[in-house]
Amino acid sequence: MIYPWHESTWQLVQHAKLAERLPHALLFSGEDGCGHEAFIEALRHSLLCLNPTHEGFACGHCRSCEVYQAGAHPDQLWIKPAEDKTTISVDSVRELGHFLTLSISYSPVRVAVISPAEYLNTNAANSLLKMLEEPTPNTHLLLLSYQPGRLLPTIRSRCQQLRLALPSTEQAIIWLKTQTLQHEPEVLLSQALGRPLYAVTLDQGEQVTQQQAFMTQLAQVLMRQGSLIAFAQTWQKYSRHELLNWLYIILQQQLKVTYGLGEQSNHPLQVWLSSCSSGQLWKLMQHWETLKPLADHPINNQIFIETIIAQWQLIKS
Ligand SMILES: [Zn+2]
Repeated sequence: MIYPWHESTWQLVQHAKLAERLPHALLFSGEDGCGHEAFIEALRHSLLCLNPTHEGFACGHCRSCEVYQAGAHPDQLWIKPAEDKTTISVDSVRELGHFLTLSISYSPVRVAVISPAEYLNTNAANSLLKMLEEPTPNTHLLLLSYQPGRLLPTIRSRCQQLRLALPSTEQAIIWLKTQTLQHEPEVLLSQALGRPLYAVTLDQGEQVTQQQAFMTQLAQVLMRQGSLIAFAQTWQKYSRHELLNWLYIILQQQLKVTYGLGEQSNHPLQVWLSSCSSGQLWKLMQHWETLKPLADHPINNQIFIETIIAQWQLIKS
């Protein structure tokens, strides 16, 4: 299964495969929260299948697919960080080296996945580099990275790079409407910065409700209908990163509306923000940049929140 926003990349890869021009090493990159792992999973399965469908998907019935579905396919390896780790160690890449020496059992090729590839530590990356320099026949290495800039340039240059794009808003909304959600798809998608699977995760948590409450109370304070002290007391217990994330989303959205690039959504701060000029919005964005370093600063939380309010109030004075 792949998501609709992956179809064009899927076709590209399948064309290359049919023409027997699929590169030995492919580096896919994109934002997390968009289901890219499902794309890699489908590609891995289809490469191993003995009788793929016309569209290139695994058939699900051949001997290779049966072994794959039983979770015991010896011609594939998926390298990821250990449960409690944020790096992929050189031992994992050594395991890959060993895997590449084994003979192929069921499939026409062997397939190894490394994800997220930016988690490779320096030794692991150097070790992988050697394998990329001397490709093993009948082998595909599939790398998935959410931060390809963190990879060694030499690793990037030895792979065929393919960008997995964010879905368009329309595509993402259509897909989100097929899911069972508690919140409005538009609200979720905007809070997830356009990443549909992350939007579903948000729907299952408390963040959306909290964000709405935050914006409602912020609007009340800005319009002198609510108490600043009560507001600061309520939100000082909340993650500063989360609060900054919400402010960023709302400012970004409003700027898009101002430039005719997005539609005005119905949210509690809409009245206050829509009376801001683009210059005032950019000023708020600059203020937001100055707040970022304070997110991890040992200042009092109440002061942090009062600083936000002061910046927003001053913009219209
Ligand atoms: Zn099959």
